[in-house]
Amino acid sequence: MRLVRFELSGQHKIGLISDGHVYSLDKLIPDAPETMVGVIEGGDVLRSRILEASSSASGGIAIDKVKLLTPMDKIGKFICMGLNYAEHVKEGGREIPEYPTLFLRVESSLLPPTGDIVAPKVSERLDFEAELLVVIGKRTRSVSEDDALDSVYGYSAFNDGTLRDYQRHTLQWTAGKNFDATGPFGPAIVTKDELPEGATGLSIRSRLNDEIMQDGNTRDMIFSIAKIISYASQAMTLEPGDLIATGTPSGVGFARKPPVFMKAGDLIEIEIEGLAKLSNRVVAEA
Ligand code: MG
Repeated sequence: MRLVRFELSGQHKIGLISDGHVYSLDKLIPDAPETMVGVIEGGDVLRSRILEASSSASGGIAIDKVKLLTPMDKIGKFICMGLNYAEHVKEGGREIPEYPTLFLRVESSLLPPTGDIVAPKVSERLDFEAELLVVIGKRTRSVSEDDALDSVYGYSAFNDGTLRDYQRHTLQWTAGKNFDATGPFGPAIVTKDELPEGATGLSIRSRLNDEIMQDGNTRDMIFSIAKIISYASQAMTLEPGDLIATGTPSGVGFARKPPVFMKAGDLIEIEIEGLAKLSNRVVAEA
């Protein structure tokens, strides 16, 4: 099942994507949750009801006729994983980590799938990072690695836009990873049943102005999605709708020779096998 949020006649709706059309959830089932977290909390039972209702549905709207919104109406935790692909760790001149490198992004740094990435005035080192995004499906605390994938609702795509100079000013990455409007995600949440177990073996790419920059595979993660969830849940209670970005493969801009950074007018696209493409323009800070 592929879920989006979209705007129709000024109202925010949740929709199911099928055959290039969006079906408003409130038309499919009368008691549909009004929030994406509500849909996620409905789990497999609600998913089955939605799919059953959609099998005979009519009245879909062509997807290019609606304005897509951020898949989550509310951001709870947005946890990111750094240094999770060996070739990317090497291109950054770092050591393979012993433990998962976790950091957080704040909501003001994030963007809807159709939003413009803002290139700030203070830096010219705006970089792209293609990442698979995990959507947590249930409250999770101290889960074992063996059971961790039960906590996944689905997956989406994320561009962990980073200001490389600010990332490396200090040991903490918070500033460089949290510039306003640098991290788009979406457009759809794809439930886990549509992808391989643990979303492994998926090609993951970034494309800048139609040129492939990163070309990796999720099987090359150092820490698996199960491991990341297990580790994060030792520290904090994960809630339905929390998001975990799982790191980026090699080929990012700063490590290229010569380096490549994003600038106003660029088009950056994140393509992950089995997921909808995430495409964003870059604009200059006003
Ligand atoms: Mg990243």
